[in-house]
Amino acid sequence: MKIKVLGCYGGQLPGKNNTGFLLNEEILIDGGTIALSADIKTQRKIKNILLSHPHLDHVGAIPFFGVNVTSNKSKSINIYGTMFTINAVKNYIMNGTIWPDFTKIKNSAGNYVFEYKTIITNKWYDIDGYKVKAITVNHTIPTNGYIIGNGDKYIIYSGDTKETDEIWMEGKKLGDKLKAIFVETAYPDNLIELAEKSGHLTPSSLYNQLKKLGKIKSKVFIYHMKPEYEKIIEKEIKKIKDYRIILVKETKTYFI
Ligand SMILES: [Zn+2]
Ligand SMILES: [Zn+2]
Repeated sequence: MKIKVLGCYGGQLPGKNNTGFLLNEEILIDGGTIALSADIKTQRKIKNILLSHPHLDHVGAIPFFGVNVTSNKSKSINIYGTMFTINAVKNYIMNGTIWPDFTKIKNSAGNYVFEYKTIITNKWYDIDGYKVKAITVNHTIPTNGYIIGNGDKYIIYSGDTKETDEIWMEGKKLGDKLKAIFVETAYPDNLIELAEKSGHLTPSSLYNQLKKLGKIKSKVFIYHMKPEYEKIIEKEIKKIKDYRIILVKETKTYFI
């Protein structure tokens, strides 16, 4: 699997963008960044979007992406999320007032630009050959991470979460098939109270999560840093020695 980092932060500063990952050039994992960070050819290839929750740093670029792909000569782009997430995007963002409803606007092939696909947690879905399961995590609003399988390789994408259990238990069951873990770490350890209140991890609570997976060979990719704390988070992460931890970098592509 090939994962391109479009944005890896839980906030914005020049050169630092909200969360968005592109899997094998066809699945967008969260949509905090896309319209400004991929060329139009790349944007046209996206067939499916997986949303973890409707906070703006995860959905904010989708309205502008919708404009860009209105000229697509292809099928509708599917937007997957739980009922909570889909309803929030439908009712509060692309609601016809804040922004047009692209599930009612047709692309150049005569298909609607977007189609919403409501999913439930703890159920495997086949999305164009990928095995996808949403698992509830522990944030300030209903949020899910994803386990995504392609062939024999699986990855975990945590979504925004503080300490949580289910997704790590599920990950543990995958054993050696689990090749990569993308997990958030938003704040440094001295802001643990703020992290707790806002439903996020710090390097030490991240370490507690990784321990729940038992012994793992998979790489651990850290994302969703609050941009101003990146350096200190990086320092603290480096002290964790038992795992292969990589702080993701924007515009980089990781091969799993
Ligand atoms: Zn976030
Ligand atoms: Zn959030």
